[in-house]
Amino acid sequence: MHTIEHKTDEEKLMFVSILMQNISDAVIGTDTRENNYRILSWNKGAEKLYGWKAEEVIGKSAPDILRTNLDKDQLHLLQENLNKTGYWAGEVIQHNRQNDPINIMASVSIVRDDGGIEIGTVAVNRDMTHKKRAEEIALENKNKLLNEAEQIAQIGSWDWDLKTGQLNWSANMFAIYEIPSSANISFEQFNSCLHPDDRQMVIQRIQAAAEGQAFHDFYHRIICDSGTIKTLHARGEVIRDENGTVCRMMGTGQDVTERIRQSEELKKLSESDVQKNNFIAMASHELKTPITSIKGYVQLILEALEKQSEEKPISPLLLRSSLKSVDKQVSRLTRIISELLDLSKIERGALELKKETFSLNELAIETVEDILYTNATHEINLFHDYAATVVADKDRIGQVMINFLTNAIKYSPGSKKINVRVHKTEAGEAAFSVEDFGIGIDKEEQPRVFDRFYRANGKHEQTYPGFGIGLFIANEFITKHGGRLALESEKNKGSVFTFSLPIS
Ligand code: ADP
Repeated sequence: MHTIEHKTDEEKLMFVSILMQNISDAVIGTDTRENNYRILSWNKGAEKLYGWKAEEVIGKSAPDILRTNLDKDQLHLLQENLNKTGYWAGEVIQHNRQNDPINIMASVSIVRDDGGIEIGTVAVNRDMTHKKRAEEIALENKNKLLNEAEQIAQIGSWDWDLKTGQLNWSANMFAIYEIPSSANISFEQFNSCLHPDDRQMVIQRIQAAAEGQAFHDFYHRIICDSGTIKTLHARGEVIRDENGTVCRMMGTGQDVTERIRQSEELKKLSESDVQKNNFIAMASHELKTPITSIKGYVQLILEALEKQSEEKPISPLLLRSSLKSVDKQVSRLTRIISELLDLSKIERGALELKKETFSLNELAIETVEDILYTNATHEINLFHDYAATVVADKDRIGQVMINFLTNAIKYSPGSKKINVRVHKTEAGEAAFSVEDFGIGIDKEEQPRVFDRFYRANGKHEQTYPGFGIGLFIANEFITKHGGRLALESEKNKGSVFTFSLPIS
């Protein structure tokens, strides 16, 4: 770089004056001797920036022309700095000839005479409007991007000033809560959206964070105005003031309703997969047992037939008892297969009822007789407290009775007595109950016994044949008739299964 040596003060002044005129910043000299800041010089940069020609402003008051917005603090700082150091720089807003605001980066220096007395100021002002606008656009873009990202992630952000109580939400936070974003949000309003069952927990967590603990993530539900219930994942952090007191909290709320629904569905799917596999294993076992037994009796009869001679004919007693056993096993197979067929009909939604008018009491008598024919283990007492005529699918209702009765026998190996009752419910429906004094069902298991494939998990139950679809089918049949199933039971005491049907 070359330095130019200036011969005279005049030459120096010429250089400075040309430089001042051509510099792109506005350079403004003022006279402060009469305390009125009269404009003494106004370069081309100033003409361009403010729109005033030099001849229009020279001699006028700079504050009148520039109309600077300075707040009290800035003004105080400016004066203090000028007095102390003779210099001040800062960002201000001034106005051009059309009175448009312009962002200015101003640098003001005091000019003193040879005796050190202040005679004026020189301000070099740079137009920052474009830079400011560019910054604003960048911020707007950033916010837009942030907003889009929030929308995609179904996440909203919030910021809560604990000192003023001011709560701010991002646009997407309003969208998640289904509240118009023009609304003012307050803590009370947020509180009113919380699900009543989660409210206490949420408030406790927020309080703990406000009292100085860390903000721990949690999940909570909200109820929107439309009635929609959503699950949110809340994350946040606390900000402390210089004394360490929490003065602000900020965080995010993410709508995870769909995610939770999907994972629950997946869980159910895999649970039902396991159940299905167990069911296939149990059903195969259930089918195999009677077949093995039938094969055994048939072989026994065949052998006896082959061995018989004229002198020693086959024993009619053996033949009768073997065939009776075969018949019993065939009935069992038929029942299993018809349960399987019913299950597949229910799953396909193809279950149809063939309704007819019949007496529930007569059907109860027939069914109990059938059961007694194949089971000599239990004593069944039948009570007719009410003469009930119903319009229903007789075969299906008979199936439900058989299911109740065979379960009562199966799950009460240690007791002989079973009570069967046809009666009227308090609501005036016709009802059929089977009471046993067997193993009973735990309170927490009771709601699940009507589920598909459900078998109570106690170690006893594993030893009883069955594959957990009888009560499920019974429930489907009865609800399709507009009736309901009920269960009262106590572990190790016994159970009462009841179905009720609307009276014709
Ligand atoms: P299954 O008897 O073939 O397993 P069910 O659907 O008829 O299927 O019954 C479902 C479950 O309910 C049974 O596995 C058993 O645990 C329980 N249960 C049904 N009836 C009784 C009863 N009378 N006493 C005790 N438990 C019962």
